[in-house]
Amino acid sequence: MTETHADPEPQPIDPAIEAALQASQEARSAALLDLARIPSISALPEHAPDMVVTAEWIAERLRRVGATDVEVSPTALHPIVYGRIHEAPDAPTILLYCHYDVQPADPLELWETAPFEPFVRDGRFVGRGVADDKGHIVMHLSVLEALRATGRAPAVNLTFVFEGEEEYGSESLYTWIEQHRDRLAADAAVISDTGFFEGNRPAITVGLRGIMYAQIDVELSPVDLHSGMYGGVVGNPANALAGIIAALKGPDGRIRIPGFYDDVVPLTAEEREAMVALAFDEEAFRTGIPVSALVGEAGWTAIERKGARPTLDVNGMWSGFQGEGAKTIIPAHAHAKVSTRLVANQQPRAVFEALRDYVAEIAPPGVTVRTTFIHGGEPSLTPIDHAATKAAARSIRAVFGVDPLYVREGGSIPVTAAFDHTLGLPVVLLGFMQPASNAHAPNEWLDVDNFERGTRTIVRLWDELASLPR
Ligand SMILES: [Zn+2]
Repeated sequence: MTETHADPEPQPIDPAIEAALQASQEARSAALLDLARIPSISALPEHAPDMVVTAEWIAERLRRVGATDVEVSPTALHPIVYGRIHEAPDAPTILLYCHYDVQPADPLELWETAPFEPFVRDGRFVGRGVADDKGHIVMHLSVLEALRATGRAPAVNLTFVFEGEEEYGSESLYTWIEQHRDRLAADAAVISDTGFFEGNRPAITVGLRGIMYAQIDVELSPVDLHSGMYGGVVGNPANALAGIIAALKGPDGRIRIPGFYDDVVPLTAEEREAMVALAFDEEAFRTGIPVSALVGEAGWTAIERKGARPTLDVNGMWSGFQGEGAKTIIPAHAHAKVSTRLVANQQPRAVFEALRDYVAEIAPPGVTVRTTFIHGGEPSLTPIDHAATKAAARSIRAVFGVDPLYVREGGSIPVTAAFDHTLGLPVVLLGFMQPASNAHAPNEWLDVDNFERGTRTIVRLWDELASLPR
């Protein structure tokens, strides 16, 4: 075990900025309620006008804090709010991302109050979007307002991107990023759309998994064949597919595709220690699902397997006769959807090619096998010891008086991969939602204390990132 050390004392932020934040407390709270009152549901076409209203609301506030080039930039669907405050010559440029759209509010009957009539009660903001992600937008705008109230500018150059399709697949974002590449040049990206760890423990998300999704099709003949007349002399697509799938993964949970692990960045001792520090309760996780046992790749803990190791799963398969009773056929064809969750630095296309080649190699004779790429998403990782991650950690430590935990998420946030791979930026995922905040669920809430301390953490963050090596 590592030595235990007392948590550091929280350190106050600059007194003038603290005073400005205290003076604006009511206004900041009112701003979040205002923003959360607009039903910016990206998935529902009837809310398209609300998307524009929300985007304009943000743009107007960016202009008020002296942002330049502010634009509600059209896309094929919902606009992206862009702007910049570049007043720190020679300092690094940080690309800041939040999203202003929200999930649909249904099932409405499970809300104790109207989702778009937000309020504060018992130390919590309650309403759709207060945590995911409008609270973060207001925290960031609040910091800019407090800086201006004291006659200052951020210590870094900030470029703002507020998206309106995060809850709807971020379809327009990639094209938009490609089109505006030159206006997005930066030294690092900060994404505020995540949260703390169980028990509201401050955390930084350092990694997200990517994905490679494929389909395997096995064909024998144009139609099903009589199993009495042809059984024993022709191949069987269902048997063949079962054999192929069985060969993809060993009983030890290791994926058997040659080269599959070649590009996996090994976990450092420090990272494995950080995962131990999460004190993940495997038994509680198991019974919470519930399943009879947790299984997976030998040699790794469950928390490592679900966030920091790649995996492969069959998502669906179908073939032959599926009705009641018996039908004596040899199926004409068999199919499976197969996906892999990827970790840095695996590439979806390379993993697909390795899968395709391996499947072709192990396919039995007598059938035709085809593997098709369906979609892919890149994994991302900004290591614990990266200067940007360290700056975020120092900011959290100063405000919350504890060292943050470091989390590797099993899922993906599309924008992260876009910033990491398309723009080549290190990404810091720093957000202040509680794990129990009901994001995407009825009665969404955000702790007022997280909102206040989160705001002060951001004040620190811009100062800390000013020393980021360029
Ligand atoms: Zn979100």
